[in-house]
Amino acid sequence: MPDPPKRGTALRQRLAELRGPDVPAQPLDARALAALAANPGCQRRALLDGAGVDKATLAQSLGSPGSFGQSQFAFMRGNAFEAKVKADGGAELLRLVHGRLGGGPEPVPGESSVPDLSAVGPEGRAARTSLALREATATQGWTLLDHPMLALDVAGTPAFLEPDAVVVHPDGTWTVVEIKSFPMLDGSADAAKVGAAARQAAVYALALEGVAAHLDPAPPVRHHVLLVCPKDFSNSPTASAIDVRKQLSVTRRQLARLTRIEDIAAALPEGTTFDVTRPAADLTAAVESVPATYAPECLAACELAFHCRERAREQDAVTALGRAVRGELGGLTTVTAVLSAANGTTGDPSDPAVAALRRAAALRQEALAGAGTSGEHTGAAPC
Ligand code: SF4
Repeated sequence: MPDPPKRGTALRQRLAELRGPDVPAQPLDARALAALAANPGCQRRALLDGAGVDKATLAQSLGSPGSFGQSQFAFMRGNAFEAKVKADGGAELLRLVHGRLGGGPEPVPGESSVPDLSAVGPEGRAARTSLALREATATQGWTLLDHPMLALDVAGTPAFLEPDAVVVHPDGTWTVVEIKSFPMLDGSADAAKVGAAARQAAVYALALEGVAAHLDPAPPVRHHVLLVCPKDFSNSPTASAIDVRKQLSVTRRQLARLTRIEDIAAALPEGTTFDVTRPAADLTAAVESVPATYAPECLAACELAFHCRERAREQDAVTALGRAVRGELGGLTTVTAVLSAANGTTGDPSDPAVAALRRAAALRQEALAGAGTSGEHTGAAPC
């Protein structure tokens, strides 16, 4: 009798079945992981990302396409800028790293190393990257790893991540480099974009720490990453060191809390598939069979946001009002239940959420009554 498949192999097979036969897995990138970590309670996203389902195509098949992605022009401009930053063996990039973060003598153009990281498949590239990092640390010189491949365990499944660059300093420390095409004006850039880049870089730093942990002694991964952007409105690069300690600890904690994909997959009805070639009705049933925790923040982070928002509204769920409101309402999970508790029809008066709602409803009534009886005060806000 053949041996039963190992646990990891069985899970990979199961996830491939869920994705559909012959459908290649959509790789998880750091942007997706940062978004996943921002909504760790969503089993739907955890499973679909873990199974490598193309959520953009799935949303389209469900009839609720998201408005995601970069324009072709922005993509090409970003690639051209990155190529310029890394030209001449990364001379300019290493100059910026040295200028902002130090870690050794000034790099001499032509004397730094840029190892070849090509290998077959993501596993091969991740192994090649680990070896290059080990060798570079031993040389005590400047080394630029251009598009290395890092593996990170996400809820039991390896995710392969490709930072723009990792630099090994002569002092043996490692730095994540993020190259973005949004401008840095007078030394500062759009805070929301910098925040998103920092969350993404934190995911890379976390994966890099995993590689470092296999070396003895483990080389320190710097918790300041280098963000490289075009200077003002030119195409010349400038850089800033970003402290990602906070993002790193949040990401570490959120990823550890992610519900295990294995358990979510085991709870699915027999025959569930997210194969995007299936009819919309089948796909809708499959998607609805996995619990989701919609929040308005999903609109900026997940391709399925329009679908999930529609369902949350249909179900009258308070989640559609935002996490803060949901948290305040405790056990009241629908808008109908909230209104009913506020007007005194249902709800336990000793529940603080119910008591607060009734108090708010009473104040509103008082304000409306006051506005109705004092015509000369029309337009004044009740105090
Ligand atoms: S949009 Fe839906 S699937 Fe995506 S994170 Fe939000 S609730 Fe989860």
